[in-house]
Amino acid sequence: FLARHCTFSFRRCIPIPKAHRSFRTFHKKPFGLPSLPSWKTSPPPKASSLRCGVSVRAMSDEQSKAQEAAALADSGAPTIFDKIIAKEIPADVVYEDDVCLAFRDISKLAPTHVLVIPKVRGNLTSLSKAEESDKDTLGHCLVVANKVAKQENLGEGYRVVVNVGPNGCQSVYHLHLHVIGGVQLTWPPGVP
Ligand code: AMP
Repeated sequence: FLARHCTFSFRRCIPIPKAHRSFRTFHKKPFGLPSLPSWKTSPPPKASSLRCGVSVRAMSDEQSKAQEAAALADSGAPTIFDKIIAKEIPADVVYEDDVCLAFRDISKLAPTHVLVIPKVRGNLTSLSKAEESDKDTLGHCLVVANKVAKQENLGEGYRVVVNVGPNGCQSVYHLHLHVIGGVQLTWPPGVP
């Protein structure tokens, strides 16, 4: 039974059911998501899409992706989000105004996972580049995050996450807010 249904964790010296292993390990969760999802009706996220702190393999994937992205961060190269803004590639847009665009994350981590981005990136490749002159844009993005949360019926609560730089596992260098909810989140998030 154990050979067929479980994989062995040498680190924890316990057999881990395969059904659980493929989704996330018991001890590390992305953004404090619960160990067992109550939203199983949605397809589970792909391993490559999982955030820092999910599992050793996924964490190293995310870290290397973030390292690669960081190398191009200040090159001024357009990102995938520029293509979404220009409508060159499709996105599931849930909100748009003059300043911000909000669309569903392609690799959702929770029943609701929306990205809020400023339409004009400017210097805001990352929050680490924020200056005094960005206060209006940043404030607007936060207000939009809350509008999206209301639209998505996240009245019970939600989380706004900004990954910054390689240590923060930022993979797209166009400032963005993750709005995550629709499930009971836990704390702390993704700390090794
Ligand atoms: P981060 O790792 O904080 O830089 O987040 C970047 C996010 O962009 C990830 O959660 C990706 O899943 C998401 N993403 C990348 N490409 C797309 C896309 N074409 N449409 C929607 N979300 C995307």
